[in-house]
Amino acid sequence: MRLTALAIATTLVAIPAVAAEVNVYSYRQPELIQPLFDAFTEKTGIAVNVAFLEKGMTERLKAEGARSPADLAFTTDIGRLDALKAADVLAPLESDALSANVPAQYRDPDNEWFALTTRARVVYASKDRVAAGEVTTYEDLADSKWKGRICTRSGTHVYMLALTAGMIEQHGEAYAKTWLEGVKANLARAPQGNDRAQVKAIWAGECDISLGNTYYMALMLNNDEQKAWADSVNIVFPTFEGGGTHVNISGVGLTKASPNRAEAVQLIEYLASDDGQRLYAEINNEYPVNPNVSALAVVEAFGEFTADDANLQNIADFRDEALRLTEEVDYDG
Ligand code: FE
Repeated sequence: MRLTALAIATTLVAIPAVAAEVNVYSYRQPELIQPLFDAFTEKTGIAVNVAFLEKGMTERLKAEGARSPADLAFTTDIGRLDALKAADVLAPLESDALSANVPAQYRDPDNEWFALTTRARVVYASKDRVAAGEVTTYEDLADSKWKGRICTRSGTHVYMLALTAGMIEQHGEAYAKTWLEGVKANLARAPQGNDRAQVKAIWAGECDISLGNTYYMALMLNNDEQKAWADSVNIVFPTFEGGGTHVNISGVGLTKASPNRAEAVQLIEYLASDDGQRLYAEINNEYPVNPNVSALAVVEAFGEFTADDANLQNIADFRDEALRLTEEVDYDG
């Protein structure tokens, strides 16, 4: 980053006017987030420097401590946002704009993280082999009628762990374990590949239903090779019995060390604004958190659903338990 060069420069010469900037650590991929930063820079003149990380963000922020150059941490998954908060590297942020644009269920009660998008974890069902109404709940995936018909990715992936945490939140640990055993018993093959690979497997006739995040449908529809996979399935929005559809979030937190706090706050507020949310939805095919903004038409066409109102903090809190249960039942084995 520029900070090293700047630190050296200050010892040698008078400091020139420093251009305003924000430094970001991101687990979100460049193509999903860079266009948003470019739009912000265009609008405000504030540069956004991004370090795209594969892993270790929490550890890095902790190690850097008060000297961290990072202002903002971007990631998907409530578990990862909660891990940042638990590591004490985020700062609370009181903002009227964020309170207005991000519904309470999608921000940390202590205002240390803010969701910017949501995604539902849904069932992808074969158009040919699964009738309308045949699957309506997550609980039902453990029913033996699905024996040999389900494909999923690894049970230890954050998307799966959040869903299992949701099951614990709904029904308790014992039920969730039995559910995981039931789903495992119904798998057509050992868990492998990503969400889209499961839809490919349905297309190829290996299984009839899979679990996946909503935005992958849009990505497959826009991909020459994958369009056939997408065309072979319907999206079904299952609910928890007595609840809604499981959603997870992507979000952002302001770091405790933030050297460019005012600019960083401006960036978060932009991303939660109507304009920022419209662009975010366009680039990511996710659901905006800002209720003034609709998802893309292609996404709305997946159907309407009611997000489960489980407290996201509880989902985060049950993450370790979900991992333990997944390992106990040897879900991936
Ligand atoms: Fe994803």
